[in-house]
Amino acid sequence: MSKPVLCLVEVDHGEIAATSQRALAVARSLARADPARADLARAGLASAGLASADLASADLARADPASARLPAVGGLTAVVFGPPGDSADRTAADLACQGVTELCLVASDELTCYAPVAWARAIEQLIAARSAAAVVAPATDRGAEVLAHLGALTGLPVAANCVAAAATGDQNWRLRRHRWAGSLLEDAVLAAPVALLTVAADAVADDGSALLPVAVADDAVADDGAGPEPAIAAPDASGQVFAPVSGGATIPAADVPVTTFAPALQAADLRVRATQSAGQGGGMSLATARVVVGGGRGVGGPDGFAALEELAGLLGGVVGVSRVVTSQGWRPHRQQVGQTGTKISPELYLACGISGAIQHMAGCQSAKHIVAVNTDPDAPIMSRAEYAVIGDLNEVIPALVAAIRAAGGQG
Ligand SMILES: Cc1cc2nc3c(=O)[nH]c(=O)nc-3n(C[C@H](O)[C@H](O)[C@H](O)COP(=O)(O)OP(=O)(O)OC[C@H]3O[C@@H](n4cnc5c(N)ncnc54)[C@H](O)[C@@H]3O)c2cc1C
Repeated sequence: MSKPVLCLVEVDHGEIAATSQRALAVARSLARADPARADLARAGLASAGLASADLASADLARADPASARLPAVGGLTAVVFGPPGDSADRTAADLACQGVTELCLVASDELTCYAPVAWARAIEQLIAARSAAAVVAPATDRGAEVLAHLGALTGLPVAANCVAAAATGDQNWRLRRHRWAGSLLEDAVLAAPVALLTVAADAVADDGSALLPVAVADDAVADDGAGPEPAIAAPDASGQVFAPVSGGATIPAADVPVTTFAPALQAADLRVRATQSAGQGGGMSLATARVVVGGGRGVGGPDGFAALEELAGLLGGVVGVSRVVTSQGWRPHRQQVGQTGTKISPELYLACGISGAIQHMAGCQSAKHIVAVNTDPDAPIMSRAEYAVIGDLNEVIPALVAAIRAAGGQG
């Protein structure tokens, strides 16, 4: 019997968070037997530009004797904490094109808010109920916290910040993961009956683009039996996990069955829980925003952020800041971008008055486009920015706001 991969999925304002989509990409590469792949193979689309790892594992097992050494991993269960209802149905529809074979909603009367130990306890029970092969979570605050508790509860090792993973044998996994805030890629081997992995929130492919999807070549099992070499595939233009096949056709999405799971929780599991979420009221989160307007020391003080807020509002984005700004108390820490702040991956990062220190760039390196506004043409951020405006942000930002308003922008 195939053992499914469980993937913790976070839903942000009704949408699957980008960080969770990356986690799903890695989880999907582990879940080698997924029905959509089988459909694909049957439809003969595999020859139309898809990697061989995109075939169902059942087909691989027949075609590739080396895969007999691999554990029977198959099926991808998205684990979402929340009750059934319309929003869950919408999430199921969104997950249909992500290779997910089951949406498991975890809900109980006690689980009314985020509670890290309780979430871990629930996943521990799901591992047993589903005989899961692996648990994958985004390396967000919650994903990392829940998997740390899960590791402690189960005694299993946790591998953090992965960008690719493959099952290479019984209780054996090969991983590629970020170290040192993403400045180093490490290839590692994990020995564990159940792999617990977090996926780097800012995982990027070799070409610098956001990591979608991760494919593991089926023919990459080394002669020495060391197992496949994880290979990172580039994302498709639409950002979908399933790449459109050549000719413009897209892979048909199968219906995702929705199940519910009520964990057995003790009072101690709920001792730590979030009862209030500050500053989130209705707004979008920094981690998932499509546009981030960044402000650094060059903004000059707390008052200077009004113009950045206005610009962010016009662009449909949010404000992010450097550590100098939070250290000075100009803005709260939850807005900090960087190694010790939030990892962002927006379409556009407009960095204003930010020098581009390595610790800051560690948090924004997977932004699709970086535009810098800085008075210093030699600031380090210039080498990372696609475009730059060399000038005083006190002049540039109001001019931008005025231009957007004149062009009929929001607001
Ligand atoms: C362990 C560790 C972890 C860290 N983690 C983080 C982190 O998570 N995030 C983070 O951001 N930093 C982090 N840092 C700090 C980091 O090293 C830098 O000190 C910080 O990012 C610098 O912030 P800044 O760019 O705002 O300030 P500065 O480096 O002082 O740069 C200010 C920039 O503004 C420009 N400027 C000035 N006036 C104007 C103007 N009027 N118009 C336009 N441009 C102007 C200047 O030319 C300059 O380039 C960390 C450091 C350490 C040691």
